[in-house]
Amino acid sequence: MLFLTLGSTEEIAASCHFLGIGETGILLDTGADPNLEGRKSLPDIKSIAGVWDGEVDHAFITHAHQDHIGALLDIVDNYPHVSIHLTPATHDLADFVLRASARLQRRKYREGSSLQPPLFSEKDVEFARYLFTSHDYGKVFNVSTNEHPLIARFYWSGHILGSAGVHLTFDEDGHKRQLFYTSDTNLRPQTIIPGGEYPEGPVDILVLETTLGADPDAELSTRRAEERRFCNKLKEVLARGGTVLVPVFMLGRAQEILALLDRFKRQGHIDPSVPVYTAGGMREISKIYDDTRHTTPRLSADFEVYGVDQLRVPKGTAAKRQALGKPGIHVVTSGMMFEHTLSNWMAQQIVESDTHAIFLVGFAKEDSPAGRLLEAVENGEDGILLDRHVGPQPLKCDVERFRFSGHSHRRDLVDLVSRLAPKKVVLIHGETEARQWMAKNIRSRHNNVEIVLPTAGVPLEI
Ligand SMILES: [Zn+2]
Ligand SMILES: [Zn+2]
Repeated sequence: MLFLTLGSTEEIAASCHFLGIGETGILLDTGADPNLEGRKSLPDIKSIAGVWDGEVDHAFITHAHQDHIGALLDIVDNYPHVSIHLTPATHDLADFVLRASARLQRRKYREGSSLQPPLFSEKDVEFARYLFTSHDYGKVFNVSTNEHPLIARFYWSGHILGSAGVHLTFDEDGHKRQLFYTSDTNLRPQTIIPGGEYPEGPVDILVLETTLGADPDAELSTRRAEERRFCNKLKEVLARGGTVLVPVFMLGRAQEILALLDRFKRQGHIDPSVPVYTAGGMREISKIYDDTRHTTPRLSADFEVYGVDQLRVPKGTAAKRQALGKPGIHVVTSGMMFEHTLSNWMAQQIVESDTHAIFLVGFAKEDSPAGRLLEAVENGEDGILLDRHVGPQPLKCDVERFRFSGHSHRRDLVDLVSRLAPKKVVLIHGETEARQWMAKNIRSRHNNVEIVLPTAGVPLEI
């Protein structure tokens, strides 16, 4: 089988992997790099043609995060006959997320905050929808282009609504082989959704994510303890009259945090009258979470994100500033506080006050504003650059980091390798250090497992 990674392999960027199985060309995810704009954010699709004569017949979209779906329209442009497979919830989310992205790109280009012309329009998204086929978890379907069956099946991956791992069974040189692609996965339950489910094993090839592979703290803290700490810190800031900014990814982390705040209020830890503000696309996505609560894996199908008391972040700048000046909790995007986003702007307003706080609850790349903020706090620096146009600002507010990741910590991932007993493990979706830690620790437990560390653009026979 031919395996070719098309996105960057040194960091968490575009997730996009090509598989050539027999005569069938398959893509596992079609992500774009969320840190970049325009064509630079896209995986190198053209490199497929250098190693593969055939078509890309099928693309599996494991979930609707930008780093797994953002390049879908570019794939459709290059391979207009591709069949796109996803779960029903990812279908709904994809439609919303891609349209929102088209609008955002258009707006930024028009305003001049981005020099990159939009990569696609809402019309393009409309067209791509005809290529979508949804499959429920556990249902098998054949994606072969010849008489040899190539059977696919989605497994619930415990990451966000609609997320899935992909299991493929096929014949190669007279042998039956199995591949499992974890995509982003979480073995443990979060606040709304339960932990992931996996094939029985053994599988031949495991394509494994490694997001938290270089994060020793993630495995030391339990979710319960983090929730308690989060609650106590919130109480502390609110009691002194401060406001708390919680930057989140609009898909997944936002809904999980709202569910948690709802629980704190119900249990009487936080005064129910403290306002919780939300804004933008996350509100639409919360609706999709609620619409699918009886048909997708949940810890409780009764819980509705829209049942959580929330106010819309006010429109004008003055009204926003006024809301920030009073005790309240602002759950807004972007999670990494990229420039020209609401969370970045709000951070600029509160960072110079020691009454307020910023609570980071998700993954933050080192070179993102959220990553820089964490680093500044760690190094005891007294200034922070949130926006290059504004320049450095004094850093006085409280900054805390909480581990509510939608990803499994690295020890759980090593356990998953033991469970699935693969002959080969292909390590992807992690920074170099993360992939190296995983490689070392898988090797020390299973010295007969072959470890593959792919490099973008370099084809491998696996
Ligand atoms: Zn994800
Ligand atoms: Zn991802």
